[in-house]
Amino acid sequence: MSSVRQEAIRSIASARHQLNRVDFKKTHIKDLFGVNVFSEEVQRQRLPKPVFKALQKTIKLGAPLDASIADAVASAMKDWAIEKGATHYTHLFQPMTWITAEKHDSFLSPDGAGGAMAEFSGKELIKGEPDASSFPSGGLRATFEARGYTAWDPTSPAYIMENPNGSTLVIPTAFLSWTGEALDKKTPLLRSMDALSVQALRVLRLFGNKEAVKVFTTVGPEQEYFLIDKAFYYSRPDLVTCGRTLFGCPPPKGQEMEDQYFGSIPERVLACMMEVEDELYKCGVPVKTRHNEVAPSQYEIAPLFESANVATDHQMMTMETLKRVAPKYGLACLMHEKPFAGVNGSGKHVNWSIADEFGNNLLNPGETPHDNIQFLVFCVAMLRAVNRFQGLLRASIASAGNDHRLGANEAPPAIISMFLGDMLTDVLDQIEQGGARSTKKGGVLDTGASVLPKLPRDAGDRNRTSPFAFTGNKFEFRAVSAGQSIAFPIIALNVAVTEALDHVATELEQAIGKGEPLEHAVSAVLVRLVKENKRIIFNGNGYSDEWKAEATGRGLLSLRDTPDALPQLIAPEVVATFERYKVLTERELRARYDVNVEAYTKTINVEGQLMVLIANRYLLPAALEYQTQLAANVAAVKAAGGSTAGASKTLATVCTLVDRFRDQIDALAHALEHGNGSPEGHARHMRDDVIPRMQALRDTGDQLEVVVPSAQWPLPSYREMLFVK
Ligand code: ADP
Ligand code: MG
Repeated sequence: MSSVRQEAIRSIASARHQLNRVDFKKTHIKDLFGVNVFSEEVQRQRLPKPVFKALQKTIKLGAPLDASIADAVASAMKDWAIEKGATHYTHLFQPMTWITAEKHDSFLSPDGAGGAMAEFSGKELIKGEPDASSFPSGGLRATFEARGYTAWDPTSPAYIMENPNGSTLVIPTAFLSWTGEALDKKTPLLRSMDALSVQALRVLRLFGNKEAVKVFTTVGPEQEYFLIDKAFYYSRPDLVTCGRTLFGCPPPKGQEMEDQYFGSIPERVLACMMEVEDELYKCGVPVKTRHNEVAPSQYEIAPLFESANVATDHQMMTMETLKRVAPKYGLACLMHEKPFAGVNGSGKHVNWSIADEFGNNLLNPGETPHDNIQFLVFCVAMLRAVNRFQGLLRASIASAGNDHRLGANEAPPAIISMFLGDMLTDVLDQIEQGGARSTKKGGVLDTGASVLPKLPRDAGDRNRTSPFAFTGNKFEFRAVSAGQSIAFPIIALNVAVTEALDHVATELEQAIGKGEPLEHAVSAVLVRLVKENKRIIFNGNGYSDEWKAEATGRGLLSLRDTPDALPQLIAPEVVATFERYKVLTERELRARYDVNVEAYTKTINVEGQLMVLIANRYLLPAALEYQTQLAANVAAVKAAGGSTAGASKTLATVCTLVDRFRDQIDALAHALEHGNGSPEGHARHMRDDVIPRMQALRDTGDQLEVVVPSAQWPLPSYREMLFVK
């Protein structure tokens, strides 16, 4: 066997992993949870009372931060962090890439007498100035004016990041240019949460709610990922560089036996998950569930939901912790959307709802008739939001990686639609027809309004194939990709819902202003919004070809890939809406568009270049070697007077494949050299000219994999990577 694969398998078979690295028997999670967080409790203990109160008001109600308290907070934070062993602090931020960025500064400061003391001022807490010229800015910032600022986000708690050699205080921050333009994901996320809150409160006021002062977006993201042995990972240049396999034929047994989903978790994997959870608990991430996913070696982790801003930060921490801890167990964590062809890829289900500061979920059908009318108002606003902004939502999840999933019969289709379940759909049908008849099966909740139908008690049935599903008291955006930050999909949704709530509130306010009773005004709005937006509702099989045809008939957007989807980000209506609610200016939005278009092109370019490299330096040499052996065999057997029929046939097959492979390498290399024109043109070139050539080259490579002797094939196979544990 090729030495690389042989070594990988031998090392896996003989490896002894240290599995007992954490001990939940000794320390229960309830005692562990949040120990490394500068939490409300720590703040209460360590801050002067007025400072504590002011800070809490900012955190809980979104009140503007009083800068004069910063020194006191910084000082308490520093003392707490140093007691925890921290030597450094860092402003953590999320630039327009897919990762978080951090630059560490030590607390040390010379004391003027040859010694040093620990210092951390309010100024340093509130504002940082990393030399951040090398992050993509989409033209928002020329390098000569490279200054970017990080600004403390007090609503996402600071925490201690441990390392075997010391600890670092991590301060979540926003990242802005010196002109105040958002260079990150957190800034627009916070702005979108504020915008949504304003409009949602208008609706609540109409229903007589005078108490609530803030409405929060709540989010619980489920993360899918793969764990494979590190020894295989390091012997696959494509996994190391691109996070996915660029070659590899499907194994005889993949996921068709359906014996993986919810199966028992292998001991080493479970041990790894537990350390991940231990790390996350300490930092206050409320991890709740773990299980095997559908594909072999695929798993899922999900937390309890939190305010969207904190949930987003915690989601980034979850991804990074998985990647960091896995190698300690001899594993590599793959967060790519499609690491392996032929088995399911990975996504992220972003569960989304809105709640006031008392935790009342506004998408919960309530206990009283009054609450249920309010619920229906929010529900039809969602209908309008997803229908009107389907293009934006589609663009918010577009990437080269997610293109492998969407519409591939394992993930939601690339067409955005909304699943409401039969019962809720039936209710909306009745509303549209202008009155209540009855409610389909199940317990019934009275809406208390004669013009409105009664609500089903449990409206949350399931549909795996829908990109956007109502699940009883929240929506689940299921088309989000495994590797991306959840920030932008949430921003897109918030902006869309903000517009819809504004629309509804304005309409209702006007009607009530004219003296109409609330119930009638609501009824009219519901009827109209259902009529206008019901085309977005689809409860059937999103994988079917009939749906694609029907969706087109309904006038829904069908944007198959990233180059087609991204322009939706800068569609005039989208730009106008982002500007109206001050979430992103046209310049800021365009910057995101530019960054994403470029990221697409770069990703495909790296993959294409690497395919050429692997083909030339790994696969072709193996095939040529086998070809030589076969030729020698044929010659020798012929000379000896034996039959060469079988060997000649095999040789002919190899010769055909080798010739084709060689031509396809050249064709791909050529296509990669000839990008054209504008960024959009280049992206389309990647899609139309490069990707098909990559696919063709892969097909031939995968055919070679099944004829070249296993002992000579240089890359670990799917069979090995997915099943040897
Ligand atoms: P599933 O069956 O899809 O796993 P769960 O009820 O377990 O459904 O919830 C999945 C995720 O949805 C969890 O992260 C959970 O905390 C989150 N979730 C539940 N309620 C809400 C809500 N009101 N807002 C946002 N996320 C929520
Ligand atoms: Mg779910």
